[in-house]
Amino acid sequence: MIRVTVWNEFRHEKTDERVAAIYPDGIHKTIAAFLDTDEEITVRTATLDEPECGLTQEVLDTTDVLLWWGHLAHHEVPDEIVDRVQESVLKGMGLIVLHSAHHSKIFKRLMGTSCNLTWREDGDMERLWVVAPDHPIAQGIDRYFDLPHEETYGEPFDIPEPDKLVFIGWYEGGEVLRAGCCYRRGRGKIFYFQPGHETFPTFKAHWVQTVITNAVHWAVPESRIALLECPNVTNPEPRF
Ligand code: ZN
Repeated sequence: MIRVTVWNEFRHEKTDERVAAIYPDGIHKTIAAFLDTDEEITVRTATLDEPECGLTQEVLDTTDVLLWWGHLAHHEVPDEIVDRVQESVLKGMGLIVLHSAHHSKIFKRLMGTSCNLTWREDGDMERLWVVAPDHPIAQGIDRYFDLPHEETYGEPFDIPEPDKLVFIGWYEGGEVLRAGCCYRRGRGKIFYFQPGHETFPTFKAHWVQTVITNAVHWAVPESRIALLECPNVTNPEPRF
């Protein structure tokens, strides 16, 4: 079984009626519910206001793939939790970073860049083009799929060159974004996926659920080992 933890800052849903109408139990519960229908996945959730953000060492040590959604409160995630998540990724845990979590501390830490992009909130239609049809995350998807409304994110997107680009997003206004990007950091696989604005029912869309489910399967650790140390050693073949 793939052990998944869905992390959500869970703030908009408590303060914004439009968001609460779409995700009454929180974005994390909607994501967890569709992942739970996959018989190879076992899922739990964690949120910002739980002790240790719900991400104790024990939770991370028993998580194969962590999903992350945040927007308003990135700065409220303590640095020691970010350190802990980063270390888990370096050891092999998969990480799927959704939508506005491009600005989360953990994503910026792992990318090493600002992760800034251009944005506007006009509810444009978005077309997600598959640019790597052979990639595991694109399986089951045709050449593209459409979302009737999404927040527009545009280039330039200040991320490192992806190891693999799987999707490009195109919006009615003409902007494009590298919307589905794969990385590897240490032994962990990372996937950034742009759709998921809180005032649209994006996480209820069939093809978005397909992509995220595929991404969970792709991000499963190939191995998990302790972090490498940096020992000062003696010459194993001394000649003098
Ligand atoms: Zn948004």
